[in-house]
Amino acid sequence: MCLNAAMSSWVPALLTWFAKDPRAMPWRNRPAPYPVWVSEIMLQQTQVATVIPYFKRFMRRFPTVRALAVAPLRDVLKAWQGLGYYARARNLHAAARQLVHGSNGRLPKSYENLLQIPGIGAYTAAAIASIAFGEPVPAVDGNVMRVCSRLWGLTTPIQSGRAKAALFQRLSPLVPPGNASAFNQALMELGARVCKPTHPACAACPLRRTCFAFRHQRTGEFPVKTPRKRPPHYRVAVALIWKGDRVLIAQRRSHQMLGGLWEFPGGKPLSGEPLRKTVLREALEETGLRIRVQAPYGTVRHAYSHFHVTLTAFRCQYLSGRPRAHAAQRVQWVTLDQARHYPLPRATEKIIAMVEKM
Ligand code: SF4
Repeated sequence: MCLNAAMSSWVPALLTWFAKDPRAMPWRNRPAPYPVWVSEIMLQQTQVATVIPYFKRFMRRFPTVRALAVAPLRDVLKAWQGLGYYARARNLHAAARQLVHGSNGRLPKSYENLLQIPGIGAYTAAAIASIAFGEPVPAVDGNVMRVCSRLWGLTTPIQSGRAKAALFQRLSPLVPPGNASAFNQALMELGARVCKPTHPACAACPLRRTCFAFRHQRTGEFPVKTPRKRPPHYRVAVALIWKGDRVLIAQRRSHQMLGGLWEFPGGKPLSGEPLRKTVLREALEETGLRIRVQAPYGTVRHAYSHFHVTLTAFRCQYLSGRPRAHAAQRVQWVTLDQARHYPLPRATEKIIAMVEKM
């Protein structure tokens, strides 16, 4: 028996399992290129259950590539608000514009050409190429890496680019031509529903006969991972600068993390700097305004993927100066009610909720 045939004896079992009970997902109802593309971008780093309502709203608001391309970025970011990783929304919007100008709004059909589109990496290109166009190319995401790591007893740490590239090579000849979409979705779904990070449900798994980790009772040892460093924690001082009933918000520059979103001015303290002084300094540096710092409203915490923050929000009174966008794209005086209509980072939403309760 050739090596591929021996390795692939589990593929029919996987496909049969998937065909019996696939999870209902709105993008599976019509696996056309655009909805598949939107869903795959949303699913990066995000659970299916979280994505579904966002996907439905997004498709209602931007039903075609063209509708997305002509929409202002602000509307796209607002529709994305709460999903996080906003570069995904900015890239999706930029790519839609590129496609409308260059190819009449149509996505390229091949894995290689999809890789040229902003925001589409190896996994997303493979998912779109296989699900929307049937190209037999493996889509290697975190779920697939975990399943394969246990199935084959892989000892290379799965976070490494080397492990991902090796898995892509190893899976490529196993993708059944004509059934690439089901193969990729089945493997991802098996990881999400059965071969979970902790306590895999091996008794219900269609791969258990061939699975290395199960047969050797070593499921807890795979996937092998290099230990992650604890994410750093930062303190941030935030200024709610009031002028009458309006407060100043600033739009982050597009190349920054959370680019295009609006927030209150603020920043990290310099070494040994009290937070009240940070607020004064940041307000002047970011907006050119002189302010009086009053009592703090309180603190909110927020965890990003690579760091955590504790934000202390201060009530501040405008004294003088014309607001300028020194460190931001734009600044704007708004009521708190109006602020809610702007695309906001989750941490800013938390601050507004805290202020409104007072
Ligand atoms: Fe994962 Fe268990 Fe299935 Fe192996 S048998 S792939 S460990 S769920």
